Amino acid sequence: MGLVTFDAQAVRDWLADAATELTRAREEITGLDAAAGDGDHGVNMCRGFAAAATALETHPDASPGTLLDVAGKTLASTTGGASGALWGTALRRAGRALAETPAATTADLATAIEAMAGAVASLGGAGEGDKTMLDALAPAARALRVSADAGDTPGKAVAAASQAAAEGAEATRTMRAAHGRASYLGERSVGCLDAGAVSAALVIGSLARALGARAEAR
Ligand code: ADP
Ligand code: MG
Repeated sequence: MGLVTFDAQAVRDWLADAATELTRAREEITGLDAAAGDGDHGVNMCRGFAAAATALETHPDASPGTLLDVAGKTLASTTGGASGALWGTALRRAGRALAETPAATTADLATAIEAMAGAVASLGGAGEGDKTMLDALAPAARALRVSADAGDTPGKAVAAASQAAAEGAEATRTMRAAHGRASYLGERSVGCLDAGAVSAALVIGSLARALGARAEAR
């Protein structure tokens, strides 16, 4: 536990930053999905996270868990592709894991991101190493748990998670896709980054910025 907790404002800051960062990276993400899939992932993620961030504005007094539930529902209903369903469920499961706590600790946050990664694994059927968004989310969840067990503040924990997610995304370059459209490429999927892992690392990076900025402001 640290000075800064993961509260409702942190969820708002997180999703707003994610929407901005995904928009900034839209062409790059689209290019990755175009190489291995159908080239819609940048658009899907921008649309979904922008809608999710905006939807939170109509829930001024909601808990972090409820906000993540609203975000997930909104994302799923506005976003096509595998990623719309996966991220929608992932955000909702993270919200459910937080229940109605107004201010989550590092350990609560680890539980929430574990729930997020678990939701993707159970809904999508992929494991780590299958070259999907899970290859960024699962290492992020593990890093958060290690930090929580070490007694780190949420700010420090999310910085470690962001680093782990970025490394996980980079590691997809040498993987062969086993799920989603990229799997149709078989061996030819080796050599490029997975679009969903890159965007997932961006989303975890936004979490780190949202909490890190607040830790510094104190
Ligand atoms: P679609 O593949 O339907 O066009 P997107 O392009 O929005 O959807 O998302 C593609 C990304 O979704 C992939 O790069 C991969 O990271 C992720 N993805 C696809 N299928 C799965 C799955 N079964 N499990 C986990 N992630 C998946
Ligand atoms: Mg696609």
